[in-house]
Amino acid sequence: MSKFSSHNFSNEKALIRVDFNVPLDKQTQAITDDTRMTAVIPTINKILNDGGSVILMSHLGRPKDGAEEKYSLKHIVQHLSQLLDGKTIKFADDCIGEQAKTLASSLQPGEVLLLENLRFHKEEEKGDAQFAQQLCKLGDVYVNDAFGTAHRAHASTAIIAKYFSPENKMFGLLMNAEVESAEKVLHKADKPFTAIIGGAKVSDKILIIENLLERATDIIIGGGMAYTFMKAQGGTIGTSLCEDERITTAQELLKKAEAKGVCIHLPSDSVIAEKFDMNSDISTSPSNNIPDSWMGLDIGPMACDHFSHVIKNSKTILWNGPMGVFEMEKFQHGTKTIAKAVAEATQNGAFSLVGGGDSVAAVNQFGYADKVSYVSTGGGALLEYFEGKSLPGISAISE
Ligand code: AMP
Repeated sequence: MSKFSSHNFSNEKALIRVDFNVPLDKQTQAITDDTRMTAVIPTINKILNDGGSVILMSHLGRPKDGAEEKYSLKHIVQHLSQLLDGKTIKFADDCIGEQAKTLASSLQPGEVLLLENLRFHKEEEKGDAQFAQQLCKLGDVYVNDAFGTAHRAHASTAIIAKYFSPENKMFGLLMNAEVESAEKVLHKADKPFTAIIGGAKVSDKILIIENLLERATDIIIGGGMAYTFMKAQGGTIGTSLCEDERITTAQELLKKAEAKGVCIHLPSDSVIAEKFDMNSDISTSPSNNIPDSWMGLDIGPMACDHFSHVIKNSKTILWNGPMGVFEMEKFQHGTKTIAKAVAEATQNGAFSLVGGGDSVAAVNQFGYADKVSYVSTGGGALLEYFEGKSLPGISAISE
């Protein structure tokens, strides 16, 4: 049982770092995706049910210079109340200062207080110790349940942990689940272990591929980044996405993979278009022989079959990044097929972890989110974890 699950929060004030950095509609400020909020409700409920009270702190957006109305956490109060069965949410207009102190100290068991956006103070992102100390005084116990910001050494995500004794700082239920599933894939993977890496840019994914070369048996590369690899192998790729300055890196990665016996799978064919446009004429072509004025915007039917076969034979699967421009219907077949293969492999006993903004959006959009083992709430944090970096938000509590 985790430290959090076995802790009794009765009569304690739990200061929880959550990630309520939800997307808001620009005009109405309505929440357009509440996944990050629903993900921490079990943590909040456990504390309240124990007879404790909850003080929530989060950032929202990237305010430049102090408070900005559009980034106020006030916009989420009503929805948070709904997610907690209509409970009244107290709100402090500033995360530190007299009002926050008074509201926190008078909080009764079963009550919830939400603090205003931490990033209205530049000290948050600077990891300022004094700011962290002011925050820490608000609660008896510190709970970190913000995996999405675990890669940042900010005041509320890492520095604050110094001011709580070991028995009074812990991960929440979400953070525990995130860390457990990421560890299972990175350190305890049953083989064959297939990593599916897609998306637009090779440059964003070099470190993760390098680290996975030490662990995976198979790496599937799809999406726009596959064309830099195609060109690195001497193919012609028309006007497909390509990072010419990464061609040497791609060649080195292919060589390293061969030396380590890791199988790199590239899409043998592609769905191609004359323009980056949903109304463009489309065709299919070998990925290494794309006509001059055409571009590859999705993996083709042969690649779909090949990749699905590899995925279905895997015992562990990590998926980060789409196989094509899945936002447009004409180019979503590849990503959809891969989502289906991951779901089938999972049904047959594989452990599958999907993480990183666009692949999560894809499994949600195509209805496969509940058919994979775990969908991570962390984008940058998950990527850094799989690059082999130590995440400050995790080490501040576990070390
Ligand atoms: P990333 O943020 O690097 O994971 O990239 C995700 C984006 O890559 C999505 O918006 C996709 O539309 C885009 N993408 C995937 N495949 C391609 C492609 N073949 N050409 C251009 N963009 C692509």
